Amino acid sequence: MKKLIVANWKANPDSVRRAVSLAFAIESSAKYSKNKIVIAPPFPFLAAVKKVLRRVKLGAQNVSENYHGPYTGEVTAEELKDLGVSYVIVGHSERRSLGETDLIINKKIKAAIKKNLKVILCVGEPWSVRKKGIRAAEKFVREQLQKDLKGIENWKLKIENLIVAYEPVWAIGTGRADKPQDAIQMIRFIKKFLNPKSYILNPKVLYGGSVTAKNAAKFLNQKEIDGALVGGASLKPKKFQKIIQASGNAIA
Ligand code: PEP
Repeated sequence: MKKLIVANWKANPDSVRRAVSLAFAIESSAKYSKNKIVIAPPFPFLAAVKKVLRRVKLGAQNVSENYHGPYTGEVTAEELKDLGVSYVIVGHSERRSLGETDLIINKKIKAAIKKNLKVILCVGEPWSVRKKGIRAAEKFVREQLQKDLKGIENWKLKIENLIVAYEPVWAIGTGRADKPQDAIQMIRFIKKFLNPKSYILNPKVLYGGSVTAKNAAKFLNQKEIDGALVGGASLKPKKFQKIIQASGNAIA
């Protein structure tokens, strides 16, 4: 089965020239991969990065919950679509910590899906919850999913419309990845939550949080894990290439 590997560049790099050269390097290594690769650069680099992509798909890191109109500083789903964006990351913990609520996330998901963008919804618990145990973490994640996906139960989503990324907050950018077995347990829990509610049949769930060239295979060789959301390591072409290769060797 194909894995989905998403590069979240966050607010990097610091120039369009560097963004294009990084995208070019990733596109070159993606040529030899059977998997789906997505690059999510900052908004100002989307158009330039799109020009060098062939196999790799373009993603955005955020989207407005509003459509066109008097929303200074917002970037809408229609604008992203027009630039050739296919995927949008919604609800990343770094945006949640900037004040993005579940209600806003819910509106963003709806706005994006209505305009045919594929949503990568990020959920995950902070350490204060996880230290109480996996059951507490499951409860936290279930509540995020309930709020974030409220009202779309009957939308008859296609498998590619909604992807969930399980990203334990304490694992993001810390070098302290989750244990693959614990990530699998949570991913099974998320899939079970999504299925019976008939949000989506056979949902895809990625793992994110300090995925590196060294540990990528441990996650990507698991049949329950449908791919990875990669931050820091996606800015280093050689390391990201190894992650793409690790997924290429995946047995799932
Ligand atoms: C992320 O940005 O979603 C992420 C998982 O970052 P990192 O890989 O650096 O932990």
